Amino acid sequence: MVDRRVRGGVRSSLGRVQAYLGRCSAAEALANRERFGGVTLQGVHGLAVARVLARAGELAGVDLDPAAYLGRGKAKAPVVEGQLGLALDLPVFDWVDAQAELGLSVVRTPGLRLRVGQLDELKAALGREYPVKVSVTLVLDGGWLGSKHSGVLAEQLRAADRDVSLVLGAPFDPVDSSYKVFGLRRLLRWSARTGRKLELLRTGPVGIPAIAAGATLAAIGLSSSTRHLGGPVARRADGVRPKRSPQVFVPRLLHWQRGIDLKGSEVTACACAACARAGSGLQRFDVAFDSAVPATVRAAAREHDSYALAEVVHAVLGATDPKDELTRLRQDAQELAVEVGIVAPKWLGSWE
Ligand SMILES: [Zn+2]
Repeated sequence: MVDRRVRGGVRSSLGRVQAYLGRCSAAEALANRERFGGVTLQGVHGLAVARVLARAGELAGVDLDPAAYLGRGKAKAPVVEGQLGLALDLPVFDWVDAQAELGLSVVRTPGLRLRVGQLDELKAALGREYPVKVSVTLVLDGGWLGSKHSGVLAEQLRAADRDVSLVLGAPFDPVDSSYKVFGLRRLLRWSARTGRKLELLRTGPVGIPAIAAGATLAAIGLSSSTRHLGGPVARRADGVRPKRSPQVFVPRLLHWQRGIDLKGSEVTACACAACARAGSGLQRFDVAFDSAVPATVRAAAREHDSYALAEVVHAVLGATDPKDELTRLRQDAQELAVEVGIVAPKWLGSWE
């Protein structure tokens, strides 16, 4: 685990990049903690897993996103054995108390989704008092990072002077313009300058440069539904349902792609432990289905994702100069994306 130390407001070590897991077993949580040094669990199910781990004395490096923002307009949270399920049917379930009781290293507020420009609600969330030290979970639509709002957001963070956990929402990529990349970097500068902890939850590979720029934690989702808070997926105008193919992390592209779109050994080569065991690279994910991708295929992809992402993270954070190493990897990824005709995410080109 990489310790974060603040000396005179200047941080002397980098934060941590770890896996953000949706539904998972305790074993999967532990495997990811071993690879990344930490793991973020989600919601009700995550709390149940955290309690199992606590009983086994295995809670180090484990934290929780209450993910209360997922509840609205969706099916009810599944009932978990024992008290927990009952308690969750009540609107007053105390997430802060539950995390504090477990002794988690960070206690996060439940987190309500804030639409762009909801300034009063933002102020209220940042001003709310709790009986223990918390990280205020802000669930923000990507528009908050745009040119019109990111200054206001940064100003509110400055005024509140609290640790913040950030979940960004967008149908596809919440950081899909150079303005939004700038907006995110503005928040990271605030964190680096003040020593206040800024943690990015259910983020994507953009969390890696964010760590190098001042974030304390970036919890990267290992499935597409945990990489950011999505919206309704747009239907194709012609009504044709596109084929489903597993999303896989491509180390050299520094982002996820559909397995079916990966052609050529430059992108399909992977030396991670999962691929080594399977005896083939990412071409094994060149499969498509009419309906949902089968659970076994998704699990295989997720295992590769976990190993391969951890390798990239260790390569960057373990480098003599992480920023230099990241620049090199970004350039390589951009060039390769052009070469193979894949659209690269915005941050790869506009981080600097
Ligand atoms: Zn692999």
